[in-house]
Amino acid sequence: MRRSDCVEVSKLEMMGMRGGAGEAEVKFNDCVVGDDDVVGKVNEGGFKIAMVTLDLARIGISAVALGLSQGVLDEALEWAKTRTAFGKPLIDWEWIQFQLADIKTKLEIGRTVTYKAAWLYDNKDPSFVLYASIAKLYTAQMAVEIARDGVQILGGFGYSKESFSERAYRDAKVLEIAEGTNEVQKIVIHRILTRGGLPEVEL
Ligand SMILES: Cc1cc2nc3c(=O)[nH]c(=O)nc-3n(C[C@H](O)[C@H](O)[C@H](O)COP(=O)(O)OP(=O)(O)OC[C@H]3O[C@@H](n4cnc5c(N)ncnc54)[C@H](O)[C@@H]3O)c2cc1C
Repeated sequence: MRRSDCVEVSKLEMMGMRGGAGEAEVKFNDCVVGDDDVVGKVNEGGFKIAMVTLDLARIGISAVALGLSQGVLDEALEWAKTRTAFGKPLIDWEWIQFQLADIKTKLEIGRTVTYKAAWLYDNKDPSFVLYASIAKLYTAQMAVEIARDGVQILGGFGYSKESFSERAYRDAKVLEIAEGTNEVQKIVIHRILTRGGLPEVEL
């Protein structure tokens, strides 16, 4: 069967990340591929190539989480300075101040561990695999929490399609799923922690 005939694609509507390439369920029905379709060498390391690609992509996902969260913080800060509630600007209420301080703290922790993972990869240090999973796990959860808190600070406006935080809240969720779910990151971290040593990767 020719490649174009054996692949069945059904598009799926997603909750967020609507600016992406588009997601679909893909079925391969009795597909035959040629030698030019082989990634790496047959029976030698194709799986490893796929795994390193995933490890590296996890740092990319962490970077997306940082950008998204920074956008939420910028919007929340601006809103808190200009919106008045119960006689004073939101920023003068202690709960808002603490929320903003918590967001900033989480964001900087996430930034630090993401930069560490990227630095290790750039320096060909195999421990980047561990830090890529730690960064992905932490920043994905962080982005969901920050987006939720951003919507809360903006109140009703945050729930409206007019706000950046509304979109960020929907977009953030996929960061806990794609390139390995939170649970998969925990499996990777646990395996490295308990078995000692790191998977062999060529950098
Ligand atoms: C918007 C979007 C974009 C995507 N882009 C890509 C892409 O570009 N390329 C690509 O290859 N994939 C992509 N994916 C797929 C994505 O990587 C998978 O959806 C993800 O890895 C989870 O796999 P799954 O959906 O099969 O869930 P499942 O594996 O069925 O998992 C379901 C749930 O069970 C948990 N679970 C599964 N196994 C275990 C276990 N052993 N222990 C504990 N818990 C477990 C999971 O953590 C999850 O919570 C994309 C998905 C989305 C939503």
